[in-house]
Amino acid sequence: MSETNLDERFVHEIVQKVMANLQIDGNTEGMHGVFADMNDAIAAAEKAQKQVHKMTLDQREKIISAIRRKTNENVEIIANMGVNETGMGNVGDKILKHKLTADKTPGTEDITTVAWSGDRGLTLVEMGPFGVIGAITPATNPSETVICNSIGMIAGGNTVVFNPHPNAKKTTIFTINMINEASLEAGGPDNIACTVENPTMETSAIMMKHPKIPLLVATGGPGVVTAVLSSGKRAIGAGAGNPPALVDETADVRKAARDIINGCTFDNNLPCIAEKEVVALDSICDELMNYFITENGGYLADKEVQDKLIKTVITPKGALNRKCVGRDARTLLSMVGVEVGADIRCIVFEGEKEHPLIATELMMPILGVVRVKTFEEGVETAVWLEHGNRHSAHIHSKNVDRITEYARALDTAILVKNGPSYAALGFGGEGYPTFTIASRTGEGLTSASTFTKRRRCVMTDSLCIR
Ligand code: NAD
Repeated sequence: MSETNLDERFVHEIVQKVMANLQIDGNTEGMHGVFADMNDAIAAAEKAQKQVHKMTLDQREKIISAIRRKTNENVEIIANMGVNETGMGNVGDKILKHKLTADKTPGTEDITTVAWSGDRGLTLVEMGPFGVIGAITPATNPSETVICNSIGMIAGGNTVVFNPHPNAKKTTIFTINMINEASLEAGGPDNIACTVENPTMETSAIMMKHPKIPLLVATGGPGVVTAVLSSGKRAIGAGAGNPPALVDETADVRKAARDIINGCTFDNNLPCIAEKEVVALDSICDELMNYFITENGGYLADKEVQDKLIKTVITPKGALNRKCVGRDARTLLSMVGVEVGADIRCIVFEGEKEHPLIATELMMPILGVVRVKTFEEGVETAVWLEHGNRHSAHIHSKNVDRITEYARALDTAILVKNGPSYAALGFGGEGYPTFTIASRTGEGLTSASTFTKRRRCVMTDSLCIR
């Protein structure tokens, strides 16, 4: 918050007003891109797509620039809305995530052409739009995903209809309205991004079956990814993860401890790429744990606290208690009767890999450490803990052969070496950010080009000027 001029109370008041104006069944009148009926949302997005498709790339880029600018202008409001509505994450980190999304999500420069020329003429392979994309977005990064998807999809010449998580619908509606305002201000059409007032499984099913939706993009847990992959349509599935961070004896253990806690606690562990558990070689395990506790705000949970946490954060049916997802360590501890100071950032403990707080993707700053005797056992353990999601894994080691072995064995879309997990999103690491990491269907970190289809355009016998 210190980076901005608006004071916290002022932002809070604005957010309360915006939220009050967006009551659940209520008044979305005047909000751009918001419809009562999913079919109407798709029809409006289709009309807008016809206009977007006719635009020059420069015109598309103008719309994208306006989305970037408006996101930066509204960053505090959106970040506050997301936290207020979902009860998850923290405002400071959400501000950083939105700024990163606004500034670094690739635009039309990602839409490139392959060309071959020779005696038989000139052939181009161009990236064309699919049309109207149906996107399903998570509660954990609601507006980040909507902004990031919209920039990429519009850059590719598409428009998009969102079926957001119902727990984040107000934040999503606000964001979609802002995106359409940006388009209108830049001379583009209304309804380049659309949604419904009340997203449900039914509206999602209408979207998945609709003949005007050729591509589905799902960002969320295993249920939604399986649903879009069973739709009979082309689908991009950005699913769950449970990223392990392995630390071996060649690592800078002190730095590894700092990186891991920074990554694990970012936005209260909501990012799917964040460190969810640690696998540590026996010879450095105590040292690592010591750095967690003495230098990085780690709270060492004993068996009794661990047992209470299991009962609190996981329901008897094995699901996550939504009231605990994305909460900070202090809040989680206070839920089990432990009061700690503001310096506590993460709950740490040592346990077997099967421990429910280790094997489950919690999305909370609870970091179990599994002790292993050898590097080989560490790799096996990490592979087991990642559950075949092939999403993200991290390693702290100075031995390149080991890093290579680990990377091959984990086979994940993201692998961060010697840094916090968020380096994979371009925070202190090279490369562009995304909030849709297509782990299951293999596109990896999605960007504008992911949302296009390849079209070959052939001119015979001419236009080769070599
Ligand atoms: P969630 O799976 O509960 O919901 C995600 C979205 O899917 C929501 O819009 C929800 O309404 C919808 N949905 C859920 N089941 C559905 C079904 N059967 N049919 C149609 N729609 C369905 O997930 P969440 O709590 O919102 O987000 C957290 C999960 O998403 C975690 O598992 C996290 O790892 C994953 N995630 C992955 C990425 C990625 O890029 N790979 C990014 C963010 C979150």
